[in-house]
Amino acid sequence: MAIDVIVGLQRGDEGKGRFVDMLAEDSNVVARFNGGNNAGHTVVLPDGRDLALHLVPSGIAHSHTMNIIGNGTLINPIKLVEEIEDIKSKGIKVSRDNLKLSSASHLILPHHIYDDEIREAGAGGQGSTKSGIAQVSSYKAMRTGARTEIIKNSPKKLEELAYDGLMAQKPLREALGLPSINEKEVAKKYVEYAQMLREYVTDTVFWLNQQLRKPKPVKVLAEGAQAFLLDIDHGMYPFTTSSSTTSGGATIGLGVPPSFIKNIVGVAKAIQSHVGGGPFVTEIHDKKLLKQLHGDMKKIDAEKGTTTGRVRRLGYFDLPQIRRAQMVNGEETNQVMALSKLDWVQRFGDKIPICVAYQRKGKTLKIAPDAAYKLDQSEPVYEYLPNWEEDITHIRDFEKLPINAQNYINYIEHQTGIPISMIGVGPQRDQVITR
Ligand code: GDP
Ligand code: MG
Repeated sequence: MAIDVIVGLQRGDEGKGRFVDMLAEDSNVVARFNGGNNAGHTVVLPDGRDLALHLVPSGIAHSHTMNIIGNGTLINPIKLVEEIEDIKSKGIKVSRDNLKLSSASHLILPHHIYDDEIREAGAGGQGSTKSGIAQVSSYKAMRTGARTEIIKNSPKKLEELAYDGLMAQKPLREALGLPSINEKEVAKKYVEYAQMLREYVTDTVFWLNQQLRKPKPVKVLAEGAQAFLLDIDHGMYPFTTSSSTTSGGATIGLGVPPSFIKNIVGVAKAIQSHVGGGPFVTEIHDKKLLKQLHGDMKKIDAEKGTTTGRVRRLGYFDLPQIRRAQMVNGEETNQVMALSKLDWVQRFGDKIPICVAYQRKGKTLKIAPDAAYKLDQSEPVYEYLPNWEEDITHIRDFEKLPINAQNYINYIEHQTGIPISMIGVGPQRDQVITR
């Protein structure tokens, strides 16, 4: 029984995709368990070209890996077809032999996306990616959603659902003065795309459980999208996503027993980033420093949304927040941390600020509190570590890192009690130090 789960420990975009891509090398199956095309991962191929992935698991770049889009995910057929086409255009083959789509995942219907746009344009906007994620999730909970099985079972019914949804919404779109659309054509095009996914749709829960119970079980890597603070239950509600982004989400989003989970890999970024609204205790507001940290915005590793293109907010490394994520994800299960962007830490200059505790209402907190309003009331307490000057992007051995970089890693390990087993020193596939 060997499922390793990879989750984001911070606010998303920690570099999960690149570590999944790396770990996929030794995995038979990579399975995505939550979220939709609102997620974005950048994987750099061995030839240096980059691959932007949204829904397709980051194992797709490896020829021996089966990729599963699990029942916990939310599917926009048009976006998924386009993504598959983009992957194919990079010379990577995609077929039912290396991609399976859960028949129990939910379809994002056209009116869900319009709903999202309408909400974001109004006072209730939350910095959503306007992908219809919250909407499809609420329809799922109301049991009026469409599962992906409908593509095979009754495409005609799907077209009706898409059309009826748009027609029901029409008066609202008109009242808000939104451009008119041809509902019939939108619904028709939607189903045409959905039909192109037919070959991938299957009972992935059954398939995965069969594999896991074989005498020689396969090695499964469960890939979580988004991150701890965006978890619908454990994140900074309401500034969250609509699914479970923590390790428990893997069992629900793939239909596998908790007892099968072996290791948990929490990914954190040395300079954490955030897209959208919500409290951010260690946010950096100093414009000069932000410019220095962001650097060249045209580079592959620029802190700009893979999905939205929005410039990401940046913040100092936040130990209380990591400790909470670690608590919920399960520090007792073999938990390791993968830390990305160690190569960016130099950009701070002489000293590296690390938040070691919060001050809230006269109390010092080692572990972050549970609510957005409490995070808003929290002040960061910083400690400062000495920085280094050398370029570390070519280094592959921990011992060869400048002593201050080693101390920085050891300090975080000591403060969290989690071993840091992978360290990113650049965005390329091989720019990782493993320990
Ligand atoms: P994900 O959503 O967690 O998969 O992360 P993203 O791919 O959206 O964002 C992470 C960004 O950081 C991407 O632009 C990566 O290319 C980049 N990145 C990841 N690890 C490293 C690293 O160790 N060093 C540098 N410089 N960039 C990295
Ligand atoms: Mg991302």
